[in-house]
Amino acid sequence: MKNLADILDDAQSHLEDAYQRLHVSDDLRERLAKPRLAVQASIPVRRDDGSLGTFQGWRVHYDESRGPLKGGIRFHGNVTQDEVTALAFWMMIKCAVFDLPFGGAKGGVCVDPKQLSPMELERLSRGYMRAFSDVLGPDRDIPGPDVNTNPAVMGWMADEYSQIARRQVPAVITGKPLGLGGSEGRVEATGRGALQVLDIWAQRRQRKPEDTTVAVQGFGNAGYHFARLAAEAGYRVIAISDSRGAAYSDAGLDPEPMWQHKHESRELKGMVYCDKSVCEEAEIDRISNADLLALDVDVLALAALENQITADNAEQVRAGAILEIANGPVDAAGGRILERRDIPVLPDVMVNAGGVIVSHMEWIQNRTGDYWSADTVNELLRERLGRETRRCLDLAEAEGITLRSAAYLQGVRRVVGAIGQRGTE
Ligand code: NAD
Repeated sequence: MKNLADILDDAQSHLEDAYQRLHVSDDLRERLAKPRLAVQASIPVRRDDGSLGTFQGWRVHYDESRGPLKGGIRFHGNVTQDEVTALAFWMMIKCAVFDLPFGGAKGGVCVDPKQLSPMELERLSRGYMRAFSDVLGPDRDIPGPDVNTNPAVMGWMADEYSQIARRQVPAVITGKPLGLGGSEGRVEATGRGALQVLDIWAQRRQRKPEDTTVAVQGFGNAGYHFARLAAEAGYRVIAISDSRGAAYSDAGLDPEPMWQHKHESRELKGMVYCDKSVCEEAEIDRISNADLLALDVDVLALAALENQITADNAEQVRAGAILEIANGPVDAAGGRILERRDIPVLPDVMVNAGGVIVSHMEWIQNRTGDYWSADTVNELLRERLGRETRRCLDLAEAEGITLRSAAYLQGVRRVVGAIGQRGTE
């Protein structure tokens, strides 16, 4: 496993090409080399047995030149300030690639949420909001969900903020439950957007869904909805993994019952998938997580965590293309090997933007009080995602560069443009 401290260097290594092409000045490069603000807090949480636990949490503002900051909150045992900073940097690029009026931020708590009871999780979520409320707000920094945080967590945080502000402020956070001002279409937006990017890319190659096999690493919010919608669209999803294991079927898996089973059993074990109906419907093999990454498939969709394809395993990849649904799943060294081997990578800052695009719509709905149907949300998502993705693909073709370089070029051009327009201080 790669050292998490290297993640920011890795994330920023993609900037150089864009800086050179855009003739970005040394002043601007220096300005974008570090985040504007990084806050750390110890968050005390009273456990159900009366004892006290203390967890380290962070909120990082990378750059707010293009608007208020936006970025999710991650609960995970590996969270560090460097990881949160890299994720904030990616948010800045992603919001700019899709021309959203947001800067990039991120938050996280170093905790294994599976070790917490629901009440402890609620106390931690409220504690996070209390610790960072000074730097958050609907015009300042608007968090949302990320790994191991969901609508329930967003709802507790929204409620805590409203208690601190002594008024309702639904636009302070996105990804809320529908009853608290959440948006239709938000839960599946990241998966839906990832599928749309894959569709646009595949159509340019005259590749049909029914002739395309897909393996999906990570079966959480992003991975599940992507797998479900991809299977519905006709792609053959032949392998799915979560943190505990992987399932494979050459005939194709049905993600829906697998998801139901995972939630009914409240088990996160990949192997459990085989215990019920899914196994009766199709021949399913158990494979290891490492095997899944080396499968001979048309598309390998990475929807778990960063640094999954590195110099250690990039030579073993046999997929025709990589779809980065997670943030940073291919590191810079792994990416160079894939490029040499002519395996295209559809980059995270393009592929996983569906979530933040619909979060932007949730923020608008909260601020106007006008709530939209799922059809309206999905149509607006389709329009913005399609327009900016095609722009990136055209740029890559015109300049003869990778899709990642094209996306960075598009995003960095907008970020440095906004910084320049603000003047010198
Ligand atoms: P999640 O917590 O809902 O799911 C993560 C999944 O990954 C779980 O199924 C977990 O078991 C699995 N996993 C973890 N380690 C694994 C491993 N080594 N092998 C296989 N599976 C593994 O998180 P999520 O919200 O789906 O986020 C996943 C990725 O997508 C993250 O990188 C996140 O930053 C990114 N992302 C999510 C959203 C969103 O709206 N949820 C938006 C943009 C980007």
